Amino acid sequence: MIHRVTLIPGDGVGPEVTAATKEVLEASGAAFDWEWANMGISAQGDQGDYLPERVLESIRRNKVALKGPVTTPVGSGFRSVNVALRRKLGLYACVRPCKSYRGAPSLHEDVDIVIIRENMEDIYCGIEFEKGSSEAARLARLIAETSGESVREDSGMSIKTISETGSRRIVRFAFEYARACQRRKVTAVHKANILKLSDGLFLSAARAVAKEYPDIEFEDRIVDNMCMQLVQRPREFDVVVAPNLYGDLLSDLCAGLIGGLGLAPGANLGDDMAVFEATHGSAPKYAGLNKMNPMAMMLSGAMMLRHLGEKAKADRVEEAIAAVIAEGKSVTYDLKPGAPDTAVTTWQVAEAVIGRLGHS
Ligand code: NAD
Repeated sequence: MIHRVTLIPGDGVGPEVTAATKEVLEASGAAFDWEWANMGISAQGDQGDYLPERVLESIRRNKVALKGPVTTPVGSGFRSVNVALRRKLGLYACVRPCKSYRGAPSLHEDVDIVIIRENMEDIYCGIEFEKGSSEAARLARLIAETSGESVREDSGMSIKTISETGSRRIVRFAFEYARACQRRKVTAVHKANILKLSDGLFLSAARAVAKEYPDIEFEDRIVDNMCMQLVQRPREFDVVVAPNLYGDLLSDLCAGLIGGLGLAPGANLGDDMAVFEATHGSAPKYAGLNKMNPMAMMLSGAMMLRHLGEKAKADRVEEAIAAVIAEGKSVTYDLKPGAPDTAVTTWQVAEAVIGRLGHS
């Protein structure tokens, strides 16, 4: 079967890691009909829009996309096109496995955690009010009238929204994932001690959904304590479900536990569409240097193969990557902290993985 997939190279290091991944996926024996599309800075240059309708149409049509990272300016400039893409396509669940690979330099061994991040709500909903604007002043007046609290005149404001519907949906997704993948426990992460009406709602929804899954253990953690416990005892955790912001932060923290962002894949899933992308960003200062680790993107590609029903080929790709890491020769600088001079290029990693696929 030929799989028609939207291929979004992204920007920064995106085109390099995406090209390396495309070669590996094709070498797995799976057949693809790639539909190229782009978003972000490069699309703005070519098509005058950061998120062209063409990209959305392509993903809606093909139902599956493989996407490189896309830059969002920090502090000012346009809003995140990644967030916009997920919201416009209803990709409400972000799945980010963090798994130890033998030979990867890491703080712990035998980590196997899957972060399930809510992708559409929370502080990422994009409702913001600029310092000094008339809208910010109106909102401050409304807050004073309704809560009696005063907001400093020179405040900017970003709104956090958490719904019961969105919370139940993501927690149910986490339990269904746990069941389908024979996982034993789901941990819900929140800050409900302080944010009683938003995170408190998330937690009560999580507790209610958990009752429908008596076969799977459930627990919750306050996010600050969760960070400490993940660093000290990561093997105690299995599937972790969290609202958008904590899910984002915990994914990078867990990537740090297993050897870094170069090994952390991901998927954004909706009811009938899926966009596969690594946890890492576009790392612009490394763009064009051919030195970034493409394995996170390749592992995202393996997740995509599983989603497409190509389990055996996905397993072979993951085994080939694991073998290259274990051998420790053809890996990028991030996996060679003691001997960065012996690191290989992005492209040489692809060749090594393809070589392993040939042997298996
Ligand atoms: P980043 O993930 O791009 O990079 C942070 C650091 O992690 C890098 O400097 C590098 O040391 C390391 N790293 C990242 N990817 C690596 C890889 N493949 N191999 C080896 N090391 C790797 O995060 P950032 O610098 O905070 O963000 C850069 C840009 O990426 C921002 O514009 C941000 O908005 C964007 N971003 C995009 C996505 C996405 O497209 N899904 C995700 C996160 C960040």
